[in-house]
Amino acid sequence: MPILGLGTWRMGESGRRRGDELDALKYGLELGYPMIDTAEMYGEGVAEEIVGEAIKGRAKPYIVSKVYPHNATRSGTVAACERSLRRMGLEKIDLYLLHWRGGARLEETFEAFHRLREQGKIADFGVSNFDRGDMEDAARLDKGLTGSNQVLYCLSRRGPEFDLLPLMRKKSIPLMAYSPLDQGRLLTKPALKKLADGVGCTPAQLALAWVMAQPGVVTIPKSSTRDRVKENLGALDVKLTPEITAELDRAFPPPKGKQTLEML
Ligand code: NAP
Repeated sequence: MPILGLGTWRMGESGRRRGDELDALKYGLELGYPMIDTAEMYGEGVAEEIVGEAIKGRAKPYIVSKVYPHNATRSGTVAACERSLRRMGLEKIDLYLLHWRGGARLEETFEAFHRLREQGKIADFGVSNFDRGDMEDAARLDKGLTGSNQVLYCLSRRGPEFDLLPLMRKKSIPLMAYSPLDQGRLLTKPALKKLADGVGCTPAQLALAWVMAQPGVVTIPKSSTRDRVKENLGALDVKLTPEITAELDRAFPPPKGKQTLEML
């Protein structure tokens, strides 16, 4: 699985912004982003249509999409996946996730995921917004669960490091960090700005480089702006020294105890 991709939440919600959103995704692919994250929820399907338009006629990136919990029954999951495939003009989704737990019984969703994989409509499957206990349930139900757990994780929200991330590393399941910039809020923190100045990169690049430096973690920042799409890709070139990592730990301390998984 690629370490960095393009997020698409909030895309497809306004006809006025559609051109910029499509342009940002196309530009990101031109620059070499190898992955796009989307969901049937985003713009109620319109984000997937924009993804479909962006990838048309070019080498297909690694595509992640998600099923709504209320659609995640045995037959509902299959039907939702087929709709997502049609909207994106694809024959296969690389990674198909349950967006959050709670709609249907997990057993049913996993059964459907297996069926979709046998039919060649998805290559792999996983979950999202699963805390440690949910992850243990999931791993017990499905020994073959290797896809991913996509959760809120960034410098200012390090809760998963206490018990979720260690479990996922033990099971070799990648953690896909969503909202790695805390939806932009992180970028206003003076400590991050100061450290980024010292490194010679932008706050967004430092925040993303830190997430990607965590073993077993990949991430999917979203931007509808060309400049920011390019800036975020530059995070791959930022080298974190032990000194900078220690400074970041001082400014954004790791958790000292269990924190319930946050969700946006
Ligand atoms: P994010 O990537 O942390 O932040 C996106 C926000 O930051 C946007 O408002 C964007 O504005 C701005 N931004 C991006 N790059 C920037 C930069 N270099 N400098 C300044 N501002 C910048 O938050 P997110 O969109 O919530 O999370 C990323 C992706 O994760 C989503 O798009 C979605 O694909 C996924 N996600 C999944 C879940 C889930 O439940 N599984 C939940 C949330 C998100 P502009 O667009 O105007 O540039």
